[in-house]
Amino acid sequence: MSSKKLDLIPLYEWGMFTEPRPSVVAGPCSAESEEQVMETAKHLREVGINVYRAGIWKPRTHPGSFEGVGAQGLKWMQQAKKEYGLKIATEVASEKHVFECLKYGVDLVWLGARTTANPFLVQEIADALKDTDIPVLVKNPVNPDLDLWIGALERLNRAGIKKLAVIHRGFSTFDKIQYRNDPQWQVAIELRSRYPELPFFVDPSHMAGCKDYIQEISQRSLDLGFEGLMIESHCNPSTALSDAKQQLTPDELSDLLYKQIVVRDADSDAPEWKDNIDQLRAKIDIIDENILYALGSRMKVSREIGEYKKNSNIAILQTSRWDSLLAKVVEKGEAYGLPQNFVKDVFNAIHEASVEIQNEIISEKK
Ligand code: PEP
Ligand code: MN
Repeated sequence: MSSKKLDLIPLYEWGMFTEPRPSVVAGPCSAESEEQVMETAKHLREVGINVYRAGIWKPRTHPGSFEGVGAQGLKWMQQAKKEYGLKIATEVASEKHVFECLKYGVDLVWLGARTTANPFLVQEIADALKDTDIPVLVKNPVNPDLDLWIGALERLNRAGIKKLAVIHRGFSTFDKIQYRNDPQWQVAIELRSRYPELPFFVDPSHMAGCKDYIQEISQRSLDLGFEGLMIESHCNPSTALSDAKQQLTPDELSDLLYKQIVVRDADSDAPEWKDNIDQLRAKIDIIDENILYALGSRMKVSREIGEYKKNSNIAILQTSRWDSLLAKVVEKGEAYGLPQNFVKDVFNAIHEASVEIQNEIISEKK
């Protein structure tokens, strides 16, 4: 599918993020009290954070959970902005939220995963933000629907919002998995390849759901070349009223950013690197040619089998044959160091194309 172009202002021209990567938005899941907002802001400022987040209105799964302190929290945020020179950021889920944010000098807003999934709300927010200069970060929708995510970006962009970026926070799953939300990096990679100019944040806190995985997810997102991180940090995480397990103290955040993660260059002009990478890429190109040649040859044989089945009046699919073939290639693949799921995915795709071709043959009129 071809994507409509977005009219964007580059991240480093927004006046709040500077290179080198990563650009960081940090702060508590929720604003809870004046003391907690100010204390956390002070420590985060000390460890070099410029953009301070806190949830004011919390979209909770169950009624009766802590639903945020509401607009009074914006007063505390504004105070943190004044006292520590921070830019302040919060989540908006309605036009009313946007108007409150405008009153209190909020510098950046984001759309939460549940809001991105709702085009009515996205449109309402886009209309409310028209004629403002506030940057908007759009979290992925809760379900892995890339078009829904892109649709939200288009609505905001059409309303004239050019300081636009995305936040990848993973997707809901029914089955319990290691992380709270499934990264499905391929969705993020697809979005990046369609809109290479669109600044990209990752939210390892909501993706992980607990402190233990924040480092590996942050590293992964830097390795994929994404620009920013949104990370939850609280002055006293164990007392947090929401998402207590996944929040880092400001000191832990500092360790993560300055000691644990490695920022890699996007590219390099060094002649030695260029020579080596060119050689390796030339090898890959030859291997890719060979793969295509092998796939083409396989497809020719598949076609012959299709003709033969047609002439012999035999059905296309013999599942037992396919099951044993798949088992065999998975085993062989392991000997080549290939992960089982990868081999299965590749061969299932090959099989699908092969069945398709045989179907065409069998339905051709004689
Ligand atoms: C949040 O950032 O506090 C939040 C509620 O995140 P999400 O929309 O990703 O669940
Ligand atoms: Mn949270």
